[in-house]
Amino acid sequence: MPYISTRDAHRPPKTLAFDEVLLAGLAPDGGLYVPTAWPRLDADALASLRGKSYAEIAIAVMTPFLDGTIAPADFRRMAEDSYRDFDDPAVAPLKELGQGLYLLELFHGPTLAFKDFALQLVGRLFDHVLKKRRTRVTIVGATSGDTGSAAIAGCRGSDAVDIFMLYPKGRISDVQRRQMTTVDAPNVHAIAVEGTFDDCQDLVKAMFADVRFRGEMHLSAVNSINWARIMAQIVYYVSAALALGGPKQAIGFSVPTGNFGNVFAAHAARHMGLPMAQLVIGSNRNDILARFFNTGAMTIGTVEPSYSPSMDIQVSSNFERLFFELKRGDAAAVAAALTEFRRTGTLPVSRAEWQEAASLFGAARVDDAGTLAEIAATFKATGIVLDPHSAVAVAAARALRHDPAVPMVALATAHPAKFADAVEKAIGTKPTMPARLAALMHLPERAPELPNDLAAIQDFVRRHARAPAGVPT
Ligand SMILES: *Cc1c(COP(=O)(O)O)cnc(C)c1O
Repeated sequence: MPYISTRDAHRPPKTLAFDEVLLAGLAPDGGLYVPTAWPRLDADALASLRGKSYAEIAIAVMTPFLDGTIAPADFRRMAEDSYRDFDDPAVAPLKELGQGLYLLELFHGPTLAFKDFALQLVGRLFDHVLKKRRTRVTIVGATSGDTGSAAIAGCRGSDAVDIFMLYPKGRISDVQRRQMTTVDAPNVHAIAVEGTFDDCQDLVKAMFADVRFRGEMHLSAVNSINWARIMAQIVYYVSAALALGGPKQAIGFSVPTGNFGNVFAAHAARHMGLPMAQLVIGSNRNDILARFFNTGAMTIGTVEPSYSPSMDIQVSSNFERLFFELKRGDAAAVAAALTEFRRTGTLPVSRAEWQEAASLFGAARVDDAGTLAEIAATFKATGIVLDPHSAVAVAAARALRHDPAVPMVALATAHPAKFADAVEKAIGTKPTMPARLAALMHLPERAPELPNDLAAIQDFVRRHARAPAGVPT
């Protein structure tokens, strides 16, 4: 499966293999890598996966994307190892909330958020590919909370990777911060930046745009633009659908959305042949996506803090992958439109493009009050405690569901204990803290603080990275 960049206007465009796309993250032209075709999982192939373990489904879904760049036995070992540490035997269990509405619990991994699904595997893939190539990389990333801890958990201890994770100081929860700052590994650096998540993301983009720095440090990324992360997230849509009667029965999904990575993985599963009744995007008060899908106007607002901080962003990087489809693969048009988006704050989208987008996704905005009300209502009706991100998905599912006879799955993307303060506001008590988290509260933190300044960040990375200094053992 060759991959191309969404902004490569050459004819024909340059194609890359899976392992190259894995290590590159963002394309040099600023675009995102996308597969040149979607592998098909027909009804028989899907049906044959029913009842299989999560790791088996993962291997079947992802193997066509690897293009022979990872030996099957190696990939099997990595897939099995990635999901072994999850604290539920089903890995991604479903719970019924009533009336055919389900919760897909994606918080049973090491950092208790759904990003572990991708990053446990991606960390192992990086280590494997780099050791084979006898080289090292420096991973830089921006996190609004959960990406950073999950990326660090996926890479800690790797001798081939140094990881630098920028987070907006004071804008992520205590637990999220401690999950990064308490990791005592020489290759792990969590940096508090005086700015917003979008500032952090801009700093990362600027580091990649600095060609000399990029080469010198062997820069790489595992943030949600990395294709391998999207690929790994396709799997739980398949496993959930199979558990609820798919592929015969089409299923609806509701996804609490920030960077558009998770919901794009759902869209990818649909491209591969998984029947979907509807696909709902839940936004918090930072509702650029909800405004776009409902009105056709994609205009950047200011980032406001909310109870679901992992969705507190305005520029959803992975939207570019959908936009590339709406533009029918016209990379020059994609590049021009995104330049204009950067310059004016408004993405030029035609009426036909918007109508197509709106036929593929529904979107609802759930503000802070709606988030707390959903946590309270679900708790009262079922005894289940939702975290604020999951509550956005459940509320959006209730708002936009077309047909109560069709199963609808809301994605529970974080454990409620990661956002205990918001939960307490909603139901009056803090959720019980799982042992994995309780242990963190007593460990010392290592948290350098840096200004929102490219030169200062680059200097820090230069002084701490091992990448230029030779090959891993
Ligand atoms: C990252 C994250 C999201 C948003 O996912 P995207 O792929 O960025 O859209 C939602 N909920 C939680 C808990 C997250 O960590």
